[in-house]
Amino acid sequence: MKLVVQVKLLPTPEQAAALEATLRAANDAATWVAALAHTQRVFRNYDLRKHVYGQVKDRYGLAAQAAQHVIKKVADAYATLHANLRNGHLGRPGSAWRERVQARPIVFRPGAAQPFDDRCLSWQLNARTVSIWTTGGRMKGVAFTASADQLTMLAAHRKGESDLLYRDGMWFLVATCDLPDVPVGAPDGFTGVDLGIANIATTATSTGDGVRHSGKTLNAVRHRHRELRRRLQTKQTKSAKRLLKRRRRAEARFAADLNHTIAKRIVTEAARTGRGIALENLQGIRDRVRLRKPQRVTLHTWSFHQLGHFIAYKAARAGVALVWVDPAYTSQACSACGHVDKKNRPGQARFACTSCGFAEHADVNAARNIAARGVTSWAVSHAA
Ligand SMILES: [Zn+2]
Repeated sequence: MKLVVQVKLLPTPEQAAALEATLRAANDAATWVAALAHTQRVFRNYDLRKHVYGQVKDRYGLAAQAAQHVIKKVADAYATLHANLRNGHLGRPGSAWRERVQARPIVFRPGAAQPFDDRCLSWQLNARTVSIWTTGGRMKGVAFTASADQLTMLAAHRKGESDLLYRDGMWFLVATCDLPDVPVGAPDGFTGVDLGIANIATTATSTGDGVRHSGKTLNAVRHRHRELRRRLQTKQTKSAKRLLKRRRRAEARFAADLNHTIAKRIVTEAARTGRGIALENLQGIRDRVRLRKPQRVTLHTWSFHQLGHFIAYKAARAGVALVWVDPAYTSQACSACGHVDKKNRPGQARFACTSCGFAEHADVNAARNIAARGVTSWAVSHAA
């Protein structure tokens, strides 16, 4: 499995200037190539390289590898864009949004990520420095900070390209690590994970009591930011826009930290008890959330996907069995007798079975159903 390690660079002012010039040159070149690709309708890496390779090197002062990475970056960006258009993620054919996206070439920010391979970037882990190619020549001894865990991970598993990027006034390297697969043992039962808004995640075995991971702090942060956004959006000044952007990022970071913590707790507990983890199939989550509050869909879908992703990769690293289950009716079905009825939900947080009288917190009842489906799904797929 692949995962990324992000380290913060601590360049001297001279080093920072060289990094900035390099990243700017690479992204200016990428924007230029993207414009050319757009007008000439040439999008494949191989074809683009034939057209622009020499010019990218000469006009932007890029070395051979850097020029190739720039061209590949443009080809990849268009491949992603075209896939999104094909899958209808950028509006229906004929919609204003889609037309606008199609009419314009891709533009790269001056600080956008640029890949560096082992020929352009080397790591001195003991000294916590990197040596990196810049438009001003090879630059040695650029310091970075990393935790002990990150250093161990980099030393053992770093492989291939790392991305250099500039964000919020800071320099980062994002390294890819390739970890060997951990064998997954046969689970001793399953923990079901119900994802929600009031409770970000609720876990329970098919007959257990359940643990709720509250979304209170996150929802409070979101609410505060929403209020601030409302006030700032009426002002169209540059500083208001900048503040908005910073706020959005702070909110995303906060949500990501919380998702990491919750995912870690869930996976650690599953590993300790020898259980597998059952997660709702993500498409189902999107459909279900859409039915509730349309205006919240984007934010929560994104956050659910992230939490699901964190749990999945932490489970894979720990050798914990993971199954995705169909979430249909998990909130209306009784986890004690199986009776399905809308009336089983007298309130948002309450579940009370109209048939057998079983009563529980609604999210715990849903998590129990998901756990039971995990058991069935594992048994079916491992019967042979
Ligand atoms: Zn019942």
